[in-house]
Amino acid sequence: MSELWKLTSGDLHERFTSGAASAVEIVESHLDRADQVEAKIDAILTLDRDHVLAQAKALDAKREKGEPLGMLAGIPIGIKDNICTEGIKTTAGSRILESFVPPYNAHVIDKILAADGIIFAKTNLDEFAMGSSCENSAFKVTKNPWDLTRVPGGSSGGSAAAVAAGIVPLALGTDTGGSIRQPASFCGLVGMKPTYGRVSRYGALAFASSLDQIGPISKDVAGSARLLSVIAGKDPNDGTSIDQEVPDYREALEEEMFGLTLGLPKEYMSDSLPSSIREAVDDVVLTLEALGTSVRAIDLPHTEYAVATYYVVANSEASSNLARYDGMHYGHRTKAPIKNLAESFSRTRSEGFGDEVKRRIMTGTHALSSGYYDAYYLKALKVRRKIREDFETAFEDVDAVIAPTSPVTAFKIGEKIDDPLSMYLTDILTVAVNLAGLPALSLPVGFSGEGLPIGLQIIGQPFEEELLLTLAQGYQVETDHHKKWPQIP
Ligand code: GLN
Repeated sequence: MSELWKLTSGDLHERFTSGAASAVEIVESHLDRADQVEAKIDAILTLDRDHVLAQAKALDAKREKGEPLGMLAGIPIGIKDNICTEGIKTTAGSRILESFVPPYNAHVIDKILAADGIIFAKTNLDEFAMGSSCENSAFKVTKNPWDLTRVPGGSSGGSAAAVAAGIVPLALGTDTGGSIRQPASFCGLVGMKPTYGRVSRYGALAFASSLDQIGPISKDVAGSARLLSVIAGKDPNDGTSIDQEVPDYREALEEEMFGLTLGLPKEYMSDSLPSSIREAVDDVVLTLEALGTSVRAIDLPHTEYAVATYYVVANSEASSNLARYDGMHYGHRTKAPIKNLAESFSRTRSEGFGDEVKRRIMTGTHALSSGYYDAYYLKALKVRRKIREDFETAFEDVDAVIAPTSPVTAFKIGEKIDDPLSMYLTDILTVAVNLAGLPALSLPVGFSGEGLPIGLQIIGQPFEEELLLTLAQGYQVETDHHKKWPQIP
């Protein structure tokens, strides 16, 4: 019983609904686990024990009364701290929102609560989700549970580290350019970026609105399927959410992958890939072929422009989205003596934003300014179309694309933080998916010689999340990477 925290979300749900464990017992196990490891991992920004226990008690009472229980009943969930939670601080990892308590829930939070999920903790992130290592948080640097001297990835590094360390079995992240998949890969987890429009962004603090998506991070494929089934769907509060039926994604786990054709892009397997990642991908290909798929090399010729295109589009949108943090409506306001409104804005923003956010606002504003708009922003939109067309062409011949999630395994804390370009370049394998609006799932496929997890992503056509889950599950049942736990000293 004391090791309830080691169970998967599915097993916890089963224990709870069958009466084998109470919700209070479940959350107490996870609270104890947090007590053991959080001081070493620093994954969490807000954890209110009383609120967690109150939710658990309410659930136990509900079960006692014989009321129907939702799909997430009994499952503690970590929430990336850029997703609004009513009455619970939501900081986006930024000083500018250090004491911001939203008066409303994001759509996904309402959905989770309606499905009887337990909001367990708010997790650390790069400020406003801008980063690939969690080092851009204004509050703390999260450590990778597999090696505490290394980053957990970013920007959803707190969510990934919390799941990898067993503090929660499931978490939400956001993925604008890889922020769910890359931390999932660095921490040995499953992470899924849904199709753009599959999940409502209402209440997720906007970074780049044409790219942002909320999605699940979990220990196993079934966990992501379960959470996605709950959060997906049309929301009148998000005009970009699409009105398409939401299946029970868990059913996809039972489907056959036999006969599917998969493409492995040459551009994603460059010579500079470390041999551990290359070998892991080769092994996956063998496993998938043994399961009845055929894998062939494909071309995504505009891949080399993806990072540059992404950073123009994302930063341009960010510069506009972040204009709202002016100290007037909410968040930090300067206490310095000021002479006029303009000075109040600029002092507030200088004090409230960290260096990376300022860098993005400046480059984004520059790309949108008259005289440069055509050269940067408009050009980036044209290349974005080319990148999307690359995938469309590929999907004429293959059912899904497979590729490493990241060109590196978890790097050392401090290794790249002073060199933004080298940090940006680690996003080379994830950003094209966001530019093209496609769904992609990263899953654990092995470990490097240093014992660091390696992730592989499966990329699909719009709204083909089920196919990705089928493939991931088919691979997972043949392997045991997802069953391993890090030894946290
Ligand atoms: N690492 C990318 C960036 O810094 C992606 C971030 C994200 O997906 N939120 O912009």
